[in-house]
Amino acid sequence: MHLPDFNYYQPETLQEACEILGRYGAKAKVLAGGTDLLPKMKQDVLAPEALVSLKMVSGMSDIEKVPGRGVVIGAKTSPNDLVNSSVLHENFMSVSEAAHSMANNQVRNMGTIAGNIVNAIPSADLPPILIALSATVTLVGPVGSRTLVLEDFITGVSRTAIAPDEIMEEVVIPEQSTTGSAYFKFGLRHSGALAVVGVAAAVTMQGSLVRDVRIVLGAVAPTPMRAKKAEEILRGKNVTDDLIAEAGKSAAVECKPISDIRASEEYRRDMVRVFTKRALRKAIYLEQSES
Ligand SMILES: Cc1cc2nc3c(=O)[nH]c(=O)nc-3n(C[C@H](O)[C@H](O)[C@H](O)COP(=O)(O)OP(=O)(O)OC[C@H]3O[C@@H](n4cnc5c(N)ncnc54)[C@H](O)[C@@H]3O)c2cc1C
Repeated sequence: MHLPDFNYYQPETLQEACEILGRYGAKAKVLAGGTDLLPKMKQDVLAPEALVSLKMVSGMSDIEKVPGRGVVIGAKTSPNDLVNSSVLHENFMSVSEAAHSMANNQVRNMGTIAGNIVNAIPSADLPPILIALSATVTLVGPVGSRTLVLEDFITGVSRTAIAPDEIMEEVVIPEQSTTGSAYFKFGLRHSGALAVVGVAAAVTMQGSLVRDVRIVLGAVAPTPMRAKKAEEILRGKNVTDDLIAEAGKSAAVECKPISDIRASEEYRRDMVRVFTKRALRKAIYLEQSES
């Protein structure tokens, strides 16, 4: 398996990168860690005329808590940066845990948060927990930047709202009262396996009352999907084991899994039921032990 020929660019600024992307349109691709892009090129799935590397563009690799904004994560941040971030450990441990569930150590060092999001495969591990935490993404283009809610950014299998001449600059988890969040992934191996099912939950509690809840399911629909009926079962109610079980059943009905080589539709639905309960229980426990 060989890489096809392509023109390679290493711009030093985002503006320069956008300008090169603009010249090629859909025939160019941004290259970050290359863990998705290069295998696809070797397998003849993609053959871009040009790769625009972000390697020499400075910045975009910090994770910071910014007052008034939340936790700001640079687009070039690797999964292992997320795993090891003290800012995330203090604020959103669930994001570190989701990153730790990805791939293997080499891929976690090479890959990036933006690559995981823009690649937009249904089993990606970071989007569900980031959507549960209401994350936004900022895109830089030739005429400025725009910010989108991540939930709306991923539009289909390998499809997003990004334009060919735009680059993702940062991901922001906004300030929020919730601290209770969790991500549970089921893969066929402990390491290096894509999610068969991934479930993220984020809750805001007032004593035993569920003030707000977001449940996001991964690998069981073309895009990460909110289990909105399951959320409604819990929102505004005093939490009980029965309600959590009901929410799990609802999520299993709401999801839209396929049968493939890794699991049948029925199995995925049952795992959604089980993992929704687990994610909710952990998120609620964490939220209650914080307050
Ligand atoms: C062995 C192996 C195991 C894996 N296991 C998992 C797993 O368990 N869970 C999981 O979720 N993923 C997994 N992956 C997929 C992959 O590693 C991740 O999705 C990774 O985060 C991709 O990041 P990257 O920087 O390497 O992306 P790249 O390959 O560089 O890019 C991917 C896509 O994103 C675009 N892109 C990248 N950065 C930007 C940017 N800043 N702005 C605009 N577009 C951008 C590229 O143009 C390309 O279309 C695995 C991959 C491998 C090879």
